[in-house]
Amino acid sequence: MTEAHILIVDDDTALLQALPQAVSLRLKGVRVDISDSALAALAMVQEREYDAIVSDIKMPGMDGLALLAHIREFCPDTPTLLITGHGDHGLAIQALRGGAYDFIQKPIDRDYFVAALRRAIQTHQLRRQVQEQQAALERHAQSLERVVQERTRELVEANAAKDEFLSMASHELRTPLSSLKGMTQLLHRRLIRAKSPEVSSLVSMENSIRRMEVLVNDLLSISFIEMGMFTLHCQLYDVSDLCRRLVDEYVAGTNPAPVVDVDGIESGVMAEIDIERFGQVVMNLLSNARKYSKVGTPIFFSLRYDEETFTLTIRDSGVGIDPELLPHIFERFYRVPGVEVQTGSSVGFGLGLYISQQIVQRHGGRIHVESQPGKGSTFGVTIPLVCQEIHHAQEEPSETS
Ligand code: ADP
Repeated sequence: MTEAHILIVDDDTALLQALPQAVSLRLKGVRVDISDSALAALAMVQEREYDAIVSDIKMPGMDGLALLAHIREFCPDTPTLLITGHGDHGLAIQALRGGAYDFIQKPIDRDYFVAALRRAIQTHQLRRQVQEQQAALERHAQSLERVVQERTRELVEANAAKDEFLSMASHELRTPLSSLKGMTQLLHRRLIRAKSPEVSSLVSMENSIRRMEVLVNDLLSISFIEMGMFTLHCQLYDVSDLCRRLVDEYVAGTNPAPVVDVDGIESGVMAEIDIERFGQVVMNLLSNARKYSKVGTPIFFSLRYDEETFTLTIRDSGVGIDPELLPHIFERFYRVPGVEVQTGSSVGFGLGLYISQQIVQRHGGRIHVESQPGKGSTFGVTIPLVCQEIHHAQEEPSETS
């Protein structure tokens, strides 16, 4: 028990002397104030905080019960012990109902009195310690909250700066890249006209430009997605026709030319799609099918439709994907660890499938995959025939089987 300060109130001057003596004999470090009237005691209670108050009930003027009521009002946490006459159970019950900590019967048993007082003081001190610790915890929690707010603000700012940089960098890279592409195409045509043998060296240059174009476009798409500016411009289009054209474009623009089996493309599939974004999905799936298969292995392309949706399927016989890693391949920047690119360049940010999924989901569709390690993968894209553009699609786990 640490230093304590108590108040004893009694109009009986003999007890007012005897009780402090009993306390100082039995309890160390307890300072005792005394008061011979409830009114004077009330003034003292308002001035300082006591660890415990002991008061006789029967006193002229304001009695102990009235004093107790005031104490409960001013300092509800201070335990109050009331002294009752011998066998006065009615008063004792009234005292407890009025919020007294305990009652002590006359004639006062000194040991009982001191033991009850010690408990009262300890209760008060413990209560105060708990309150102090609670207050310290609250202060700590508040300061932590301020730190979290500050860090969050910094992170939000850093994220906005990153988005801005990404958007600016990808925009800035796109312009010189497209003029480089235009110039190479021009040069290509001239060299062909001049029947120059230099054409072949230009082809690898064109391949590099194409790869860079894919990377820059991926960065641009990501920056649009992050900034919530990734919107679709859907229009009714012949998807069968578009798919055939995209495959032709892909085969013509890829060296060595991949074998794409398009027998499965059903004709007359009309749907509302964003042509450019849909093309991005097809190109990404085709280029993955090629990248993760041995050179020259055929890629199977099919397009089917029913009353409400069309489904595009791209199947390869490549390295396949470990079933445990399958759920991750649509995450941003995810690349299956330890998987070598089988054909072409190894560049890739692990963004293609993430962006493809975003595009498909924003069309109201879903992208699904089946894969067997060592045997190959089948990626399917199902999109409603009528555009149901979903803004800022929630990231849902992809269907894998
Ligand atoms: P990137 O190809 O640029 O790494 P993607 O987002 O397109 O990024 O693909 C993520 C990962 O999924 C790839 O790194 C690859 O490990 C795996 N993957 C995607 N398509 C295939 C596929 N057809 N066959 C095997 N693995 C694939």
